[in-house]
Amino acid sequence: MLISGLQKLTLLDFPNHVACTIFLKGCNFRCPFCQNKDLVLPEAKTTYYTEEEILDFIEKRKNVLDGVCFTGGEPTLHKDLADLLKKVKMLGLKVKLDTNGYNPDALIDLVNNKLVDYVAMDIKNSFQKYDLTTGIKFVDTSKIQKSIDFLKRGTIPYEFRTTVVKEYHNVSDFIDIAKTLQGASKYYLQKFEDSDTCISRGLHAPTDEEMKNYLNILKTLGINAFIRGED
Ligand code: SF4
Repeated sequence: MLISGLQKLTLLDFPNHVACTIFLKGCNFRCPFCQNKDLVLPEAKTTYYTEEEILDFIEKRKNVLDGVCFTGGEPTLHKDLADLLKKVKMLGLKVKLDTNGYNPDALIDLVNNKLVDYVAMDIKNSFQKYDLTTGIKFVDTSKIQKSIDFLKRGTIPYEFRTTVVKEYHNVSDFIDIAKTLQGASKYYLQKFEDSDTCISRGLHAPTDEEMKNYLNILKTLGINAFIRGED
C-alpha cells in the first residue's frame, strides 16, 4: 500500500468526529480539477509512510482522535485496504472512506464487512459528461450507478458531493444529477478552487450566484442539497 500523506487532525472531514486523514496514492480517474495531482500521477514524487508508522501514530493519538479518514487518490484501488481498516477498527476508531464510486464491489465489500462507518462519494457530473469530467475515456457509468444505488439503500451514513467547476457544470447537468440522486440522504456542492496542485491549471470556480442557482434547482427537484460550508 502506498501511503502518501497524513493530516494529523481534521475537525471538518468526518462529520461529528475528531479525525486524522490518510492519503493513499493512485487513482483510476484524472479529473482535470483534481487538487491532489501528486497523489494521482504515478510519476509524481511523494513522501511515503509505512503502515507501521501510521498505526503507531493512531495508537498514540487515540485518546484525542475518534475517527480516521481514508482518501486519495482512490483508496479502494488498494487490495490491502481492508487489512489496514481492520487494524484501525481494532484500535477503536471509526472509519470514513472517500471514493469516486468507480469500484463498487470493493466499496460494497468494505461496508458489508463493517470496516467503514461513513462514505463520501463523488458525483463528478451528469453521466453523459463523466468522460469529460474524469479525464478518461469510456467511463462505465453503470459502476457509478451501482455505488449510488448501494449507498442509497442506507446501510451506513453517507454523502454525495460534487466539486463544481465553471467549465464543466451547468443547469442541465444538475437537473440530470437530481434525477440520479432522488432519495439520497445528503448532497453537497463544493466550489472548485484553482491551485498549483491541480492536474490542469486555468479552470474557474462558479460564481456565488451560480452555486445558489444550482442549489435551488436541486432543492426544487427534491434533493437534500447543501453548499459545503453553508449547511
Ligand atoms: S479528484 Fe478524486 S477521482 Fe478525480 S483524479 Fe483526483 S483523486 Fe482521482
